[in-house]
Amino acid sequence: MTRSCIALLSGGLDSLLAMRLMALQGIRVVALHAENCFHGTERPESARERIGNAAIKLGAAETAFPDLTGETIAIVKKPKYGYGRNLNPCIDCRLLTIRAGFDLMTEKGADFLVSGEVVGQRPMSQRRDAVRLVDRLAAEWGFAGLHLRPLSARLLDMTIPETKNWIDRKLLFGISGRGRRIQMELAERVGLGVYPTPAGGCLLTDACFSGRLADLMRFTPDWGAEEVELLKVGRHYLPGPATRIVASRSEDENRRLGELARPEDFLYINAEKNGAVVLLRGAKTDRFEALSAGLAVFFSKMRERGRACVRRWREGREDEAPEREFAVVDPETLRELEKRVRSSWNAGISSIGGDPVAPPRERS
Ligand code: SF4
Repeated sequence: MTRSCIALLSGGLDSLLAMRLMALQGIRVVALHAENCFHGTERPESARERIGNAAIKLGAAETAFPDLTGETIAIVKKPKYGYGRNLNPCIDCRLLTIRAGFDLMTEKGADFLVSGEVVGQRPMSQRRDAVRLVDRLAAEWGFAGLHLRPLSARLLDMTIPETKNWIDRKLLFGISGRGRRIQMELAERVGLGVYPTPAGGCLLTDACFSGRLADLMRFTPDWGAEEVELLKVGRHYLPGPATRIVASRSEDENRRLGELARPEDFLYINAEKNGAVVLLRGAKTDRFEALSAGLAVFFSKMRERGRACVRRWREGREDEAPEREFAVVDPETLRELEKRVRSSWNAGISSIGGDPVAPPRERS
């Protein structure tokens, strides 16, 4: 009888390897990649295509991409098991994904769950006590002994797929620690070839992104996925507690800011349209307008001239303001804005109990 498993895929090498080892043992694999809004800046559809294609090529029979954004936001706001070095609630997040895996296992009638954890590789979610916690909760959920970690299996208790000989334990591994050498060699041996690397990884482990998020958590307690998307784009300035200015860094970000703007947000670009788009959200005072327009001049080819005509509009609204001339934001003001961003992020981080963030690299 052909046995089947759900393989959790993060998109990285270890989870692909674990899945591949199952396919090579003749197990029918359903690959599951849990989506949430903190997975780098890659668009979900392109991540889905990249990971889905790799999974099918490496032997998965089916793929599934549940969107866990809402649940992940809830645990980022209040993690039961705390944060890692930044705002990464890895243990809660891992439990969430594993629970989604068991749910899919029930739905598909699969026999067991597989993941690419390597004992001791990550400081938070892959410590032995974290592995034990996950297994204890799996037992409480009714899935005792049904979670196999092929890369570290020989260091861990036998699971049901091993004791019942659904799979051959001799073909599993006893890898531990942070080194990658064994996995790289194994990737060659099992035909992973050039495997796709995740684009950007998890933003919650990034100090700068965590600073932005901590600040958002302080001033916008009911934040959601839409606010997170804005945090991924551009350079951010916080001229006042409830006001945010975002300046794009590329053509792509120009477009993205337009997509993310709310009808009440102001957008600015120099009249020649040869520079950054700047979004102003919050208080529309004369000072914040001048700052936003001045940044649109600063991050453009008009910077050297010191002044430029700036267009202001609101997405989806017809009431575009007449173009006006604005002075470029001066270096001292810009330094002050950057300092303010840093202290606001750090205040947010320390209110949550994390490490201070490094100075932002905002100017280009
Ligand atoms: S690194 Fe990010 S995606 Fe991975 S377990 Fe931690 S919070 Fe979750």
